[in-house]
Amino acid sequence: MEQRPLWSGADAAPAKAPTTRGSRAVRTSGVKSRRELSEPAAAATVRAEVSTPVLASIAVGRPVRGEFTYTLPDELAGRLEPGQRVLVPFGRGTALGFYLGPASPPTGEKVRLKAVQRVLEDSPSLPKDLIALLRFAAVHYRYPLGEVIRGALPPGLSKAVDEKEARPDVQHFAVALVNEVPPELSRAPAQSAALAYLLAVGGSAPLEEVAHAIPGARETLKKLATRGFARLEEKTVEASVKEGLIQGRPDHLTPEQDAAGVVLRAALDAATFQPFLLHGVTGSGKTEVYLRAAEHALSLGKGSLILVPEIALTPQLVGRFRSRFGAEVAVLHSALKDRERLFHWQALRRGDVKIAVGVRSAVFAPVDNLGLIVVDEEHDPSFKQEEKLRYQARDLAVVRGKQAGAVVVLGSATPALETLENVKRGRYQLLELKHRVDDRPMPTIELVDLRVERPREGVVTEEAPILSPPLLEAMAETIGRGQQVILFLNRRGHSTVLLCEVCGLSLKCSECDVCLTHHRSQNRVVCHYCGLAMPVPEQCLECTGPMLKLGIGTERVEAEVLERIPTARVARLDRDSASSAERLTEMLASFARRELDVLVGTQMVAKGHDFPGVTLVCVVMADTSLSIPDFRAAERTFHLLTQVSGRAGRGKDPGRVLVQTYNPDAEPVRRVLAHDFDGFANQELEWRKALAYPPYSRMAAVRLEGEHPEQTASVARSLGNIVSRHMPPASAGVRMLGPALAPISRIRGKTRWQLLLKGPTHTALAPLLARLEAALVDVPSAVKVVIDVDPGAML
Ligand code: ADP
Ligand code: ZN
Repeated sequence: MEQRPLWSGADAAPAKAPTTRGSRAVRTSGVKSRRELSEPAAAATVRAEVSTPVLASIAVGRPVRGEFTYTLPDELAGRLEPGQRVLVPFGRGTALGFYLGPASPPTGEKVRLKAVQRVLEDSPSLPKDLIALLRFAAVHYRYPLGEVIRGALPPGLSKAVDEKEARPDVQHFAVALVNEVPPELSRAPAQSAALAYLLAVGGSAPLEEVAHAIPGARETLKKLATRGFARLEEKTVEASVKEGLIQGRPDHLTPEQDAAGVVLRAALDAATFQPFLLHGVTGSGKTEVYLRAAEHALSLGKGSLILVPEIALTPQLVGRFRSRFGAEVAVLHSALKDRERLFHWQALRRGDVKIAVGVRSAVFAPVDNLGLIVVDEEHDPSFKQEEKLRYQARDLAVVRGKQAGAVVVLGSATPALETLENVKRGRYQLLELKHRVDDRPMPTIELVDLRVERPREGVVTEEAPILSPPLLEAMAETIGRGQQVILFLNRRGHSTVLLCEVCGLSLKCSECDVCLTHHRSQNRVVCHYCGLAMPVPEQCLECTGPMLKLGIGTERVEAEVLERIPTARVARLDRDSASSAERLTEMLASFARRELDVLVGTQMVAKGHDFPGVTLVCVVMADTSLSIPDFRAAERTFHLLTQVSGRAGRGKDPGRVLVQTYNPDAEPVRRVLAHDFDGFANQELEWRKALAYPPYSRMAAVRLEGEHPEQTASVARSLGNIVSRHMPPASAGVRMLGPALAPISRIRGKTRWQLLLKGPTHTALAPLLARLEAALVDVPSAVKVVIDVDPGAML
């Protein structure tokens, strides 16, 4: 992570004055974009004191850039703390503001400053270290600071209302009284699901959370309580009692876990910023390392922040934290209700709760006295937010750690190349877990060459079967032994292309530049980008020729398994089948309970699951993500294949992986087969270096979306011209790619263009981005332009 001074000044940012000279507002810094509201209104409002007024730098909760200078009325001067929410005059009305610290007088013109009207709370909602982080985010990702702050706060605090306290200080908890779902519940699926959830998350959870995961669980849990399988209790959350079944805290660490622990404890004791990469193979027990580090932080009175890609996909990690730390843990998932969000915020802010486990937005959680930040599965693309403030939570975690003087642990079996490069440059210290827990072997990985092995039979209008004889054999054998199978294919639906046999035309979305996918269960063709759905056409819409159904998705794989192994209990895990968090949780729990033999799924099955019953993992087609026009395609493929392979053989029985592919020589496939992470990484890094892609450069994408193709193209070209005109000398190493139509050139009827900037450092790109931002004022409103710094996906 590249660090640079955020502002030229120390505490206070260069401020703008929301004031007037004549009728125009004075801006001492920043650029105006058309996203900004009207200029703050003029003269007639509050006058500044004649004596030297105390000045305050305020972030206004409106889409305006920069910070503003206000005066403080006497009764407030010296009493405000940074982070307090205030009410300020703005434009013709008032706005929510955040006091950030003292401001220096605006230079140059004689300005009349307006005064802060009112303070909305007694103590600051925003802790100091968060202010620094939010300021960084606003500058780095080019987003209005007030909006950045509002986005980080829970809804109750992001509006201009007086302080309110979330008061569910009595929370209702359900506590499991058994260790597993008893057989007598087999006829009560609702009760067994609720109990299974409870067990999966560590034996105890707030009723609200269970009810969120499993509809109707409140009633169900009452029934479980009367049957003696669970207990319901009221609990004040402040009382930090440990609850639930204490899920195994292993007595002995593996030697590698122990060694990592020693280093992390020393780092926590030193109480300074120290970033680590915990590179541990799948099943090496990384979670236990996080847990021990958090325990140590707690023993020092310090808080911990644990970021995970997706809560619903990692109930086990949450369960381990909950069972180890009980009510000390706030779980921050995206489905929290407003009141819960506010409650957790305040509990963390007060230091009543010291550990936060959450998804990317939890990087802004106000953990008090932060000592440890963990980013689990740090390579996961879901840490990048793709709307509004387009931040990378892993990168911000490192920035936050630096600002807070905390220990940062980035953990993964397949670290991002950016992170590896930081290790190579000596910025991050490497901790390695090269062996699985208990010296369990890594799974064997075998190749199935689809060019040779794919069955040739098949009906005329559909593709031939995709499950090869070796795969089916291995599946039958595994299921026969009472073990479980995961089948991975990163495409949902039944057939992904419908093609006319006569004219060759494929069925495309009318609004997007993509093919429609056939979903047989819905009997429709569906666009995965805009959601458009329609009945499956019987024949070609152009020439009435017969349609071929090509391209295989998870639905088709599921059907094939059922057809070939009729006795198998099969479920499918993808965005269609797991349309809600509840269904997702239930499906994972059911697989964990071994009520299913086979789980077919997209990348959702490749996440950090720990299912000891899984001994066979099959990659149905490794090729799907290889040809995506993105410089990270190979890396992403390698990660997915390694991660999904890592689901095999985590219990006492050894695991086996079969990889079906048409491209056995493709680099990521070869390296996965050889368990050769280092080889892959070095080769890929060399390639990135040769082409100056990250981590050897920083990028920014300018993304355009417009109603009219010509207008959008012309805006894209004119922005390109601006960049060309202000391009630094070639020696600076900055390059522009495009402007060009985006790889997916139309979505929801809008034409998409993009322009990519590459430079040796972020600092080298910043002036160009500022120019572009300034130019956005002149862009017609039918074209939407966003600047995406450190972009994730290139599509
Ligand atoms: P990773 O995240 O590295 O893939 P996990 O943290 O999920 O691995 O650990 C894999 C399994 O090993 C889990 O079931 C965990 O409970 C278990 N485990 C971890 N550490 C130990 C240990 N020291 N002794 C025994 N079992 C352990
Ligand atoms: Zn569409």
